[in-house]
Amino acid sequence: MSFCRGCGHQIHETAESCPQCGAANASLATRKAASADQEGTLWLPIPSLVCGLIVVLALFDPEDWETDQVIGGIGLAVTAIVLGGISLAKQKRGLGIAIAGLILGILGLLGALGSQL
Ligand SMILES: [Zn+2]
Repeated sequence: MSFCRGCGHQIHETAESCPQCGAANASLATRKAASADQEGTLWLPIPSLVCGLIVVLALFDPEDWETDQVIGGIGLAVTAIVLGGISLAKQKRGLGIAIAGLILGILGLLGALGSQL
């Protein structure tokens, strides 16, 4: 049980508002806000990080890249940037992973383009 902020009447935790005075249930609002941080999927930031990581690791390959490797690398880098960007825009979950994926994607893209100069 929790207590109404407005009138002190005892109300059920899951009640949206106080049946006595109609004030919003403060404890429910707090809990909803807390769970919003956990909402979202890790299927955006983790693939972003993986794609970014593959491209950046491939940059350390001392051999010159074949054209199809460069195209594949750019594709992976762009995927990392797009997925990381969507994740950052849409959700708080996996924030650090999304930022890492985005940065690795940008580095990978610059590296893949730079290898062609
Ligand atoms: Zn009340």
